Amino acid sequence: MKAVYLDNNATTRVDPSVVETMLPFFTEQFGNASSIHAFGASVGGALKTARKQLQELLGAAHDHEIIYTSGGTESDNTAILSALEAQAGRDEIVTSKVEHPAVLALCQHLEKTGRAKVHYIGVDSFGRLDLEAYRSALSDKVAVVSIMWANNETGTIFPVEGLADLAKGVGALFHTDAVQAVGKVPVSLKDSSIDMLSLSGHKLHAPKGVGALYVKRGARFKPVFRGGHQERGRRAGTENIPGIVGLGKAAELAIQHMAEEQGRVKDLRDRLEKAILQRVPNCFVNGDLNDRLPNTCNVAFEYVEGEGILLHLNRVGIAASSGSACTSGSLEPSHVLRAMNIPFTAAHGSIRFSLSRDNSVEDVDRVVEALPGIIEKLRALSPFWAGADKEARDFKPLYA
Ligand code: PLP
Repeated sequence: MKAVYLDNNATTRVDPSVVETMLPFFTEQFGNASSIHAFGASVGGALKTARKQLQELLGAAHDHEIIYTSGGTESDNTAILSALEAQAGRDEIVTSKVEHPAVLALCQHLEKTGRAKVHYIGVDSFGRLDLEAYRSALSDKVAVVSIMWANNETGTIFPVEGLADLAKGVGALFHTDAVQAVGKVPVSLKDSSIDMLSLSGHKLHAPKGVGALYVKRGARFKPVFRGGHQERGRRAGTENIPGIVGLGKAAELAIQHMAEEQGRVKDLRDRLEKAILQRVPNCFVNGDLNDRLPNTCNVAFEYVEGEGILLHLNRVGIAASSGSACTSGSLEPSHVLRAMNIPFTAAHGSIRFSLSRDNSVEDVDRVVEALPGIIEKLRALSPFWAGADKEARDFKPLYA
């Protein structure tokens, strides 16, 4: 049985042509980019090519606005720490309650250690930012705003360009965690007020452990890693050359496949979503249906445990992910669904299906075939379902 992989927001398969592009950089072209000799020079050229490829994907004005990093987490941490250090007298951060832990855990740490005051802006039940609260959190004390481009769990897209304009109005730097957006939706930074943007290779068919931080020319910046002079002194450490070359190639492919993401991949996602809503009672879609990543579908199945659904799907060769990141022993639903005020009985049974250009109609139809029976079986065992009153059990999906 062929495995069906629908967890592309967790990580993607490295594209075979990305692997092919990387291979020589493990063997013949193993030089250090900082070396003066020919081995170094050829690798230096490859670094430059990848920077150009990323510049194009991001619609950036200059290739030197790209700093290579080890991935999304490092880029997010660097952006926020740098902004605090670079702007004496500004010690506040504005972020949202639905950011990835790569932003939230750092903000909580900075708050706990007294290094920053953090404003966590809430969202509504569709996951959309509370714009009034956002506006009132902005002041001349804010060093940096960090709001994600698209949410990893629901796919909800934030109006980052407009948010960046507002941040600029109070002289704050604006950073966006675009780890889930880059490669899936068009990005154009040249004329935007966005000062910094994080991206990660493994979300766009490049390897894990490589990413980039875009820093607009002229934006105040202080390095977090200190050591050698790599990356023009902005990120010390010998570069991950094969990873960077792979990231550049993946960026080039992402440009070529952008129309497919918005077309074929979105159609597959919609086919899946529609069929689930038609065939499974008591379920609804989490997130902003009007402004969402084209590949992401997060469905709340009421009165069942997400983990149970995932285990049953896994048994029939289907990989998806739980919207409720339950750790063993604690049955807390994810912070994203909690911030959206999704009812307890639905947040626990929320499943994220995230597609990519690797998926086919057959993949989607396998899920549609398997899922209704799994939910029915689990509900038959569910004390919540047994206890739900008739009105709740007769609930009709909102978006069928
Ligand atoms: N930000 C978002 C929105 C993500 O989805 C992820 C990964 O899941 C990260 C940051 C972290 O990226 P990395 O795994 O490259 O450190």
